[in-house]
Amino acid sequence: MKILFPSLFTPFSDLTAAFTTRHGGISKAPYENANLAFHVGDNPEDVVKNHDLLATKLDYDRYSLIHMRQIHSDKIVRVDHTLTFNTPPECDALITNRPNTPLMVMSADCTGILIYDPIQKAIGAVHAGRAGALNSILPKTIQAMYQTFGSKSENLYIVLGPSIGGCCYEINEAIAAECDEKGYSLALRREDEKVFLDVNTILLEQLKSLKITHIEVSDHCTACRKDEYFSYRGDAQHTGRIAGVIILR
Ligand SMILES: [Zn+2]
Repeated sequence: MKILFPSLFTPFSDLTAAFTTRHGGISKAPYENANLAFHVGDNPEDVVKNHDLLATKLDYDRYSLIHMRQIHSDKIVRVDHTLTFNTPPECDALITNRPNTPLMVMSADCTGILIYDPIQKAIGAVHAGRAGALNSILPKTIQAMYQTFGSKSENLYIVLGPSIGGCCYEINEAIAAECDEKGYSLALRREDEKVFLDVNTILLEQLKSLKITHIEVSDHCTACRKDEYFSYRGDAQHTGRIAGVIILR
């Protein structure tokens, strides 16, 4: 399994965090080949095998990994002992302070976000596409980490994984108007008759307003780099999912 380790997290010995690519798994087209999502139409046995390959690579027990049934919401779930690999909650953010409990966010164009608080020893995984970003899923997750674990925003380390960029994400005028209304005009780019949205610009504005400075952003656009990632828009919607994984040791 080919994975990427964000350099922002490398100083921390009690943490493992990575993003997958589309390489190193066993799924067949159009999920070739490291798809990690069960809901996209891929052979479930292949998906489980891909999860096993990732678990071996990152050295965790696959059954202890918690993923999500993502619904583009602002719902956040605190992971406790009642959740298992086979019972993913319906939500778009997971938080925990439990060691050896990997949290996973899946994506194909949306931004997968990994959060680490080295002071309170807590982690989070967030799924933010356009809807989630405009519904403030990221600031709400940071608020939930404060309320639940006492995590102060200025202590957080946050990585935004590979996602579709403002180069490729074309939106309609209704969505552009919503971005304008919510104060995110700077995330829009107009070219000829078209309008494009950079979701990461919204997310970074939200982090800036929370005075968060420890941030790393992947500079890879998933639609530009279909050779390396899955892209829902770039691959005409029939595709797999990469993932961000974060584990407190
Ligand atoms: Zn692009």
